Amino acid sequence: METNETIHDGVMKDVDGQLNPVPPKQNSVQPSVAEVYFYEEDVSLPYYTDRFNLEEGDTVFVEGKMAGKRGQVQKVSHTFRIRSGEYEQIRCVVTFSKPSKLYFSTSHLIEFRARALSVKQVKSWFGIPDEKVELLIGEGTETFRVSDPFTTGVNYEFGMKAHNEYFRKNKVKYLSLENGNGYAIVVDDQPYEVRFRMDKNGTGRALTCSCQEVGVCVHSQAVVFELWELMDTIMGKYRHEYLRFNRFYAVSKDFILPLLMNAKQSGSITID
Ligand SMILES: [Zn+2]
Repeated sequence: METNETIHDGVMKDVDGQLNPVPPKQNSVQPSVAEVYFYEEDVSLPYYTDRFNLEEGDTVFVEGKMAGKRGQVQKVSHTFRIRSGEYEQIRCVVTFSKPSKLYFSTSHLIEFRARALSVKQVKSWFGIPDEKVELLIGEGTETFRVSDPFTTGVNYEFGMKAHNEYFRKNKVKYLSLENGNGYAIVVDDQPYEVRFRMDKNGTGRALTCSCQEVGVCVHSQAVVFELWELMDTIMGKYRHEYLRFNRFYAVSKDFILPLLMNAKQSGSITID
């Protein structure tokens, strides 16, 4: 739970005084079998879960052969008799738990509070489970400048490949910077998680990616290009919001708009 929230009488109250229902406790989940429909493949398959309270209309990611594809829950049953391991499991549920104001940039929508676009929430949109794994981390001494994406030390050809085939093609679907901690999701053959640290003067370090490339990979280099462009937009147009919250969260328009249209059954958008 975020540190700026407190619980009173079963509702979470955040700094803006907006009330949000407390999420259900883990132990109140009632196991179920659900029929999930996958649009692109036009196929429905059954899945088991003892981790999520599913509802009809939920958008989910699953384990097994449909891993990485978004599906929609068509039917949920709490009455079943199946062999353990017979059905694949639901991996995560796409949630939109908090309303928020999003600002436009050329390719992304930007938020300055950890609400609709918090790292935890956005991970669910990519089917990345929010789980603790043991990591071996080396932070190194290399640094880069946000104002010059080539200061990561990559050669020109490699930099241009990351620029043209990843950054320009909008493969950096998500990028956030929260109190100096950078986190991004780049979708290539699968979603990759890129992390970095950033000081107040625009010097970055500890740039790593979850792919197995040694050193700066195309995904991390594409993130540095995205950061360079987003910071330029933010400092030019939304400087006040950024300095007020000292963080931003940006999601690619071509990713979030279809997701919203498919997954939201209610709610509204305001355009100004
Ligand atoms: Zn990578």
